[in-house]
Amino acid sequence: VTSSSSAPSAEPSWHSKAASVDWDVRPFIDGEYRDPAADATYEDIDPATESALCEVSVGDARDIGAAVASARRCFEGGAWWEQSPAMRAEVLLKLADLIDEHQEELAILDCLEMGKPIQAALSDAGLGATTLLKSWAGAAEHLLGQSLPLTPGTAGFSAWEPRGVVAAVTPWNFPVTNAIYKLGPALAAGNSVVLKPSELSPSSALKVAELALEAGVPAGALNVVPGLGSTVGEALVTHRDVDFITFTGSTATGKRIMELAGRSHATPLILECGGKSAQVVFDDVADLDDVAAAVLRDAFPNQGQVCAAHTRLVVHKNVREPLLERLLPGARELVPASPLEDSTTFGPLASPAQRDRVRAYVDSGLAAGAEPVLQGEIQESGGCYVSPTIFDRVSTEMAIVQEEIFGPVLCVQSFATDDEAIALANCTDYGLAATVWTRDLSRAKRMARAIRCAGIAVRSSADEGRFADFRSELVLGYEPQKASGFGAEMGVKGLESYSVPKAVYFQGL
Ligand code: NAP
Repeated sequence: VTSSSSAPSAEPSWHSKAASVDWDVRPFIDGEYRDPAADATYEDIDPATESALCEVSVGDARDIGAAVASARRCFEGGAWWEQSPAMRAEVLLKLADLIDEHQEELAILDCLEMGKPIQAALSDAGLGATTLLKSWAGAAEHLLGQSLPLTPGTAGFSAWEPRGVVAAVTPWNFPVTNAIYKLGPALAAGNSVVLKPSELSPSSALKVAELALEAGVPAGALNVVPGLGSTVGEALVTHRDVDFITFTGSTATGKRIMELAGRSHATPLILECGGKSAQVVFDDVADLDDVAAAVLRDAFPNQGQVCAAHTRLVVHKNVREPLLERLLPGARELVPASPLEDSTTFGPLASPAQRDRVRAYVDSGLAAGAEPVLQGEIQESGGCYVSPTIFDRVSTEMAIVQEEIFGPVLCVQSFATDDEAIALANCTDYGLAATVWTRDLSRAKRMARAIRCAGIAVRSSADEGRFADFRSELVLGYEPQKASGFGAEMGVKGLESYSVPKAVYFQGL
């Protein structure tokens, strides 16, 4: 682990700002922090040092009962959903401004709780969270129904109504933006929300709930209950007064939540789950240096802990060797360092459990005969630091190819024909993202249709153009495929997910 020394400055360092955090991770219910019902707690661990940051209540059904009751009261009272979409949009825009003002505070919480490098955490809490919120605020007034042709004495139209009480469950990899992905469309559509953030990173979601109240979201419209998935999470998704479930996390938990929702009262839901995305490189690419830079950037963002990380390089056999040669020097430069340094771009993994998971997959790849052209170092204690591993000569049945590792491990698969490339790109249960590198337009169109995923980029150069700005994808909208989940969250389509259309007929009026 390296840690660069920063030049002397009047501004306190991130380390001293982190040391002065005043932790309050109690449930935020009905517009205030409340003591949890249960006494039992667990330690919130800083993965950069493996020392405890604070104690968090494991939570139980009583906290969820109070939060759901508050959300229901707020919904039935109409303080939020009966406001016009334009008024709700104004409040959400105010919340975006407040998040921007509190960007540093939010970023330090995410940095400490899940090890996100501070500059990346600032970008998530600033540009990421506010851009997302503004996109749903902008969409709120465009959630329009349809009307039947008028006939004498009759009129018929459809109206979108909020679903009611929304249960949201989120993971730890982008704590603040994961929370916004759920509460943004849910609140824009007029629902009340109970959010259970990951046990590893509950604090920034709690801070957002506090800011939402200040922005004008009424008490009870946004409740946040920290705690464990097995207690708080299950109590929430099985609560009989929940009208809709929105989940982001692993496919295994998504399947479990589907089961629970079915057994509860067939609660409708949307799932954003795992991925094992392919970076497909044909031998007609112009510049392999460009491709190598993109492969590294897409495989190891957030230390590989991104649902859409491109953790499989599917490369034409003619360019496999030269591409690997170009990849390795850049991958060796990804040396993990303290997330509290401005210069750090690659931090620790989010938890000791995540480090164990990555170690187990690396061991399984070695045992199965994959060739580690780069084998990352794994720090065993005092920080969950793991550097990248690249496996060549893998086969499709290996666990490292089929399963989501959620860490810095890239598998290299090679092909000779377009059909083989498609088969490899589609060879896992997942369907989240893909990138294809080619200059051949007809091949590009075929790949775009044949690869099953939520979003695909077909590229001939490293120039990101307008797609560097992630607002483009907010406008286009997408849905995961296969075991990566289902349901839209972005734009007006996202607001439709969090609403129900009602048909209304007037006769003889
Ligand atoms: P996870 O273990 O599935 O947990 C996600 C959330 O579900 C956490 O809040 C967790 O609580 C909760 N949970 C666990 N078991 C539950 C249960 N039985 N009932 C209700 N809630 C339960 O996932 P993770 O490790 O936090 O996050 C990594 C995963 O998220 C990866 O698979 C990644 O691909 C996926 N992800 C997907 C997207 C997307 O948009 N598709 C985006 C980001 C992340 P605890 O924290 O207490 O376990």
